[in-house]
Amino acid sequence: MEKVNVELDGKLYSCRGCGTHLALADDLISKDYYCPNGKAFLFRNVILFINVRSNVSFGVPEERMLITGIYIIVGIFCCSCGQNLGWKYESARDKTQKFKEGKFILDRGMIDDGANSQHNIDTAGPVDS
Ligand SMILES: [Zn+2]
Repeated sequence: MEKVNVELDGKLYSCRGCGTHLALADDLISKDYYCPNGKAFLFRNVILFINVRSNVSFGVPEERMLITGIYIIVGIFCCSCGQNLGWKYESARDKTQKFKEGKFILDRGMIDDGANSQHNIDTAGPVDS
């Protein structure tokens, strides 16, 4: 269950609830993050910036106290099933955390990394550039 598959090329992360594509494995920065539900991944991008039409929708910005400090974040939701997937860092209070601004947290429990199922890869098409 905790086995980490590091074979990232061309892989997609999808909504666990409905299979909507959310992020490219190429945009994964770190698997070392946590959200209130447990493990979370930090992404450079979500599919929002890959497709013209976004696969995620955003909540309203809010100030949130996280483990590493205070941030302005917006919740991100699956456009298809409405599942709360994580959040985007709008801004960080702490200078050392500024690198997270504009990046995305996806709840590990809400996404499917394609390691356990094949449909993500099969339906993804040529995502390598
Ligand atoms: Zn969904």
